[in-house]
Amino acid sequence: PIVFLNGTYVRAEDARISPFDRGFTFGEGVYEVCIAVNGKFVDAPAHLARLDRSLAACGIAHPPERAKLDSIMEELLRKNDVTTGLVYIQVTSGVSPRNFTIRPEGRSTLLMMAQASDFEQTSAFREGIHVQLREDIRWLHRDIKTTMLMPQVMAKRDALAQGMSDTLFYDEQGITEGASSNVFLVDAHGTLVTRPLSNRLLAGCTRERILDLAREAGLPVDERPIQRAEFATATECFVTSATYLITPVLTVDGVSIADGQVGLVTRTLQRLYCNSMND
Ligand code: PMP
Repeated sequence: PIVFLNGTYVRAEDARISPFDRGFTFGEGVYEVCIAVNGKFVDAPAHLARLDRSLAACGIAHPPERAKLDSIMEELLRKNDVTTGLVYIQVTSGVSPRNFTIRPEGRSTLLMMAQASDFEQTSAFREGIHVQLREDIRWLHRDIKTTMLMPQVMAKRDALAQGMSDTLFYDEQGITEGASSNVFLVDAHGTLVTRPLSNRLLAGCTRERILDLAREAGLPVDERPIQRAEFATATECFVTSATYLITPVLTVDGVSIADGQVGLVTRTLQRLYCNSMND
């Protein structure tokens, strides 16, 4: 694969990042994942706006290529022969001696790469997934998309070890989000529910699109925390992210949502979302 690192396109095996990069030593980095379908990016401006917010929140300087990220994204698809897949963008604060508070003198590190993947063809998207619940032990700036992903990696590995595909997190107010997704359910009254934005969850770009599509379709929508007990009475549940699109959740901790089949609201939103991507 060809990646973009600090101003140049290089083969992945020739890319060199300093051992003193603060992304490596301190996890001082932020990232984005944006997908392309048939060569067209989905929600790229929203992902780049969130990258700006993450950089600002962490006090990381913009990479000098900031204004050209769109064209680099396009070029990475071309150079890697990807038409449907994802582009990963990571920015770290750069290189400095290993000292917590030093501000790097050089540029922020920018790494971008592309990867082919057919999101609409995965079994998760088509058939749904089984998830477990775990207490959300992460920090309280989950609205910033940082590369400090140890809790998510551990939660997802733990889910696999339990024979499930992913983990949803909860705190004292209810479900926060999935380990790499936002969570929606259709409650006992037929209302589409998802947690309101705060520092306790990432403002998903897909979440925003789904809320818009649901409102346009005339579905009742309520942004409020989902309680763990509600999975017992919910009629449908799904998770959203750039790569999950809208993925049905069939069971939570081994208990079926309703009859354990993919529901009508989920299928309708999948169709509306895929139509909007393919427009
Ligand atoms: N929450 C978390 C913790 C995530 O990692 C992701 C994936 N980026 C999301 C939510 C969904 O965000 P998006 O729809 O922008 O991909």
